[in-house]
Amino acid sequence: MNDSSQFADQVLVCKDCGDKFIWTVGEQQFFYDKGLQNVPKRCKPCAEKFKSQLREKHPMQWIKCKKCKKKAEVPFEPKSEDILCEDCFNKEIAKRNEKIIEKGLKLPE
Ligand SMILES: [Zn+2]
Ligand SMILES: [Zn+2]
Repeated sequence: MNDSSQFADQVLVCKDCGDKFIWTVGEQQFFYDKGLQNVPKRCKPCAEKFKSQLREKHPMQWIKCKKCKKKAEVPFEPKSEDILCEDCFNKEIAKRNEKIIEKGLKLPE
């Protein structure tokens, strides 16, 4: 279902601490806007912890964004020059989603 009005608060269980947490409509909307598909697996404190652990394991690398030519840090080893900074990447995703939404709104004849 691609309609954002279908969202409702969801109770999820954190896979790290086993606590229940609420995935709010606002957060779901945020996910949707970013084009993310996966339901969060961790509560907020655990997600923060997980992120910082990930950051320790994967030191930030400097890249040069293909689009805005700005230098940016990414938490992975760039495989090619064909790389976007987080801002441009998010914009690309948003643009792509807009197109999908546009298409989705067109009713078949
Ligand atoms: Zn947790
Ligand atoms: Zn950029």
